[in-house]
Amino acid sequence: MTATVIDGKAFAAKVRGQVAEGVAKLKADHGITPGLAVVLVGEDPASQVYVRSKGKMTVEVGMESFTHQLDVDTSEADLLALIAQLNDDPAVHGILVQLPLPAHLNSDLVINSIDPAKDVDGFHISNVGLLGTGQKSMVPCTPLGSLMMLRDHHGSLSGMNAVVIGRSNIVGKPMAQLLLNDSCTVTIAHSRTKNLSDVVRQADIVVAAVGRPQMVTGDWIKPGATVIDVGINRIDKPEGGTRLVGDADYDSCAAVAGAITPVPGGVGPMTIACLLANTLTACCRANGLAEPE
Ligand code: NDP
Repeated sequence: MTATVIDGKAFAAKVRGQVAEGVAKLKADHGITPGLAVVLVGEDPASQVYVRSKGKMTVEVGMESFTHQLDVDTSEADLLALIAQLNDDPAVHGILVQLPLPAHLNSDLVINSIDPAKDVDGFHISNVGLLGTGQKSMVPCTPLGSLMMLRDHHGSLSGMNAVVIGRSNIVGKPMAQLLLNDSCTVTIAHSRTKNLSDVVRQADIVVAAVGRPQMVTGDWIKPGATVIDVGINRIDKPEGGTRLVGDADYDSCAAVAGAITPVPGGVGPMTIACLLANTLTACCRANGLAEPE
C-alpha cells in the first residue's frame, strides 16, 4: 500500500484564503481590521524564522501585524507590562508570546497574563479548561490544524483508536483532548510508555509529537492507519548540509499507512493558518459578530 499524502501546504493555503475573505468582509461591513501581536524575547534563530513567517502571513491575509522583539535579558516585569498594554489595546485581537522563553522568565505566569479572549495560541489556563470541558475556547494551533486535516480526510472520527505520542501542553495534551471531543478512543503515550510500538500498532490514527527524528517506523503502523507527523527536526544530510524530517520515518510509514502528512508541508503550514483563523475568530468575538465556521 502507498499512503495518500495529506497536503498540508495546499490545505493551509485554502484556510488562509478563507481567513482573507473573512478579514475583507469585516473591513467592508464593519470597518474593523483584525490585529495580531507577536512577542519574541531573545534571538533564537528558529523562533526568529517562525515570527517573521507569522508576520508575513498575517499581512498577506489583510490583518495588522505588530511584532515586539525584546532583548534576551528582558525582565519579567517589563514583559508583563507589555502584555498588559497589548491586553488593553483595542487594535490587538490576538497575542502570541513565542515559546520557548529564556529560562529566567516564568512561561506559565507570562502565558496566564494574556487576556484569554486574545490568547490565540490557546495556552492560557482558562482556554485549557474550556477545551477540557468541551466548551467554546481558543484551541491551540498545531493540534487544531492536525484535527482539521484528519476531519477532512476521514469525515467523522467517531470510534477510531487514536494514539498520540507526546504529552506536552502545546501539542500532545490538547491533541488528545480534541480527538476525545471527536469521540475517538484516545491513548496518550510518552517517554515512560512500555512497548510503545505495540501501543502504536493498535491505532487507526497516530499523532507523532515527540521531537525525535524518524522515531516511528513503518513496522509500528497498522496497515491503512493515518499518520499525522507533528515533528520538525533538522538532521545532517550524508552529502553535507541539513534537511527537515518529522518524528515518523516517512518512507517506511508511507509504505504501510493509508494516509500520512509529509514534513515539511504537512502540519507546519496548518499551524500558522490556524493562528490566523484564531485571530479572526477572536476579533469577531471581541466585536460581538458571528464567528467564521
Ligand atoms: P516536547 O519536548 O515538549 O514533548 C515531547 C514529548 O515526547 C514528551 O511528552 C515526551 O515524553 C515524549 N517523548 C520523548 N521521547 C520519547 C520517546 N522515546 N518515546 C515516547 N515519547 C517520547 O515537544 P513538543 O510537544 O513541543 O513538540 C514535539 C515535536 O513537534 C517537536 O519536534 C517540535 O519541533 C514539533 N512541533 C511542531 C509544530 C508544528 O507547527 N508542526 C509546533 C510545535 C511543535 P515525557 O513527557 O515523558 O518527557
